[in-house]
Amino acid sequence: MTAEALRTMTFEEIAPHARLMVAPGCRYVCPRCPPDIHRKGAAFPWNFWCREHDARLEARGGRRLEEWLPETVLTLLDFNARDGAMRLADWARGRDGGAPSVSELLDFLTTRHRRSSPPALAEQPVLSLAARRANHDFLTRPIARQALLVIVPEYDRAAPVLAKPVRAGLFSMAQGSLLQNYALAVGVGRLSADPVGYAASVLLASDGEGEPLC
Ligand SMILES: [Zn+2]
Repeated sequence: MTAEALRTMTFEEIAPHARLMVAPGCRYVCPRCPPDIHRKGAAFPWNFWCREHDARLEARGGRRLEEWLPETVLTLLDFNARDGAMRLADWARGRDGGAPSVSELLDFLTTRHRRSSPPALAEQPVLSLAARRANHDFLTRPIARQALLVIVPEYDRAAPVLAKPVRAGLFSMAQGSLLQNYALAVGVGRLSADPVGYAASVLLASDGEGEPLC
């Protein structure tokens, strides 16, 4: 193997600010690729498709995005997710000069725009009275309310309530699940296209506690 061929297999081109995005193995899996194939792109949290098979990747453990979001919704979200993924990939290689920057966008998406609150009725599973008593802790636990939920309401409606909050800033993607990272990429895509419009909608949806943070 030539030194050049070897170099293309490393993450040398990834800028220091983005190295935390590189996973030690595949983040998601292609249902059609042999399990022993490890593609370099699979280490990044914003690669949601297998180029070889033109297939949507699944979470490790076999959960698919279609379990949360219907195919018709996903098809529309893909446009934003692909725009977001493209910006994220450029940013990781130090080639993104856009303003606001990718890290500013992820900071904004993960800002708490409202006071934390327990699951609303619409977010709760249907429970019997006895089950409600047994699950009192879960039903009264405050959940962080982040700008991501306003910018990607499809995620707000689909994500399991306890798994809705993501980590802050860049860590949101570095450590997020497949569903969370897909929503974040959609958010980056939407914010890149219309930062002012989406920022305004988050401000409108914020409360007294979240407004200064936005
Ligand atoms: Zn594949």
